[in-house]
Amino acid sequence: MKKYAAVLCALTAVAVLLVTYQMVGRPRGLPVKIRIATGGESGVYHAYGDALADALERQMNVTVTAIPSGGSVDNIHLLRNGRAELAFVQNDIMTYAYNGTNLFSTEGAFKDFFAVAALYPETCQIVARRGIDGITELKGRRVSVGHEGSGTELNALQILEAYNMSYSDIEVDHLSFAASVAAFKEGRIDAFFCTAGVPTPAIRELSAGGEARILNVGDAHAHSLISVYPYYSRQTIPAGAYPKIGDEAETVAVKATLVASGSLDKEVVAEIVKILFESEEVAKVSPSGKIDRESAVEGVLIPLHPAAEAFFRK
Ligand code: GLU
Repeated sequence: MKKYAAVLCALTAVAVLLVTYQMVGRPRGLPVKIRIATGGESGVYHAYGDALADALERQMNVTVTAIPSGGSVDNIHLLRNGRAELAFVQNDIMTYAYNGTNLFSTEGAFKDFFAVAALYPETCQIVARRGIDGITELKGRRVSVGHEGSGTELNALQILEAYNMSYSDIEVDHLSFAASVAAFKEGRIDAFFCTAGVPTPAIRELSAGGEARILNVGDAHAHSLISVYPYYSRQTIPAGAYPKIGDEAETVAVKATLVASGSLDKEVVAEIVKILFESEEVAKVSPSGKIDRESAVEGVLIPLHPAAEAFFRK
C-alpha cells in the first residue's frame, strides 16, 4: 500500500511540474540553445547574425550559434527540418514558403514559423563588368544567379523574366557572393546577381578595383515585375554607396525579415525582440540602423509572432 502511495505521490509531483511548465514556460535560469540560419560570409545576413548572436548571449541565458547557409530558401529548410530556431529570410521567399506557392509548390506549405520583424531593404544588385550597359546585354554572357538555396536566384529569374529573358539566354553559374567576386576578378564571369542590404561587403570589396558597375532595372520593366510579384518595391542605390561606382542605380528591393520557429518559447522570443530593437551593436551592422516599429511590419504577409505583436503594441 505504502509503495502505491509513494508512486502516486511521485506521479502527482511530475504532473504538477508539467502543468506549471506549460503555464509559465521555460523555468528561469535554464539555458536555451538557439541556432540562427544566416547566409554566405560576404553577405549582410552573416554579419547581422553574428552581431545578434553576441547580443543575445550577452543579455540572455542562451547559447547562440550563427549558421552559414546558401540564403533564404536554405534557411526555410533549416527551420522546417528543426535545424534552426531563428532565420533571416527575404519577405518574398517567406511568403511563398508559408503559402506553399512558387518554388515551394512541390514540397507544400510550411506554417510553423512567425515573422519577428522586417529588418531592412535587400536590394537586387546586378553587378556587371564596365562596358555592359543594360540587362539585355547580359545575353550570351556568363552570369552568376546566386548560390543554390538563395533567395537571390529567384530574384534573378524574375528580373530576367521581366526582360523576356531566361536561363537559356545566359551561361548560368550558381555562386555565393564571395565566389562571384572571386570569379569576376579572375574574368570567369561577367556579371552576378546579389540581393542583399546596401552596402554589401562582397560588392564593396569588388568595386574598389574599379571594374564593376551596377545595372538599372528600367521603369517599365520594374513596373511589370512589381505588378506580377508585389513583394518588390522600387529602390535607388545612391552614387557613392560603393567605392569607385560613381553613378546611382535604379533597381528593386525586397525586405530582409527575421523569423522564428514555432517551437521557440514565447518568452524567449519576447526577450529577443527587445534586444533586437534596443541593441546598439545590432543597429551598427544593420543597413537601416535602428529598426522602428512601423517599418518592422512592412512587407510582412505571414503571421507576426505574438511576442513581437505585444512589443509593437506597447
Ligand atoms: N537575401 C540573400 C539570399 O537569400 C542573402 C543576403 C545576405 O546574405 O545578406 O539570397
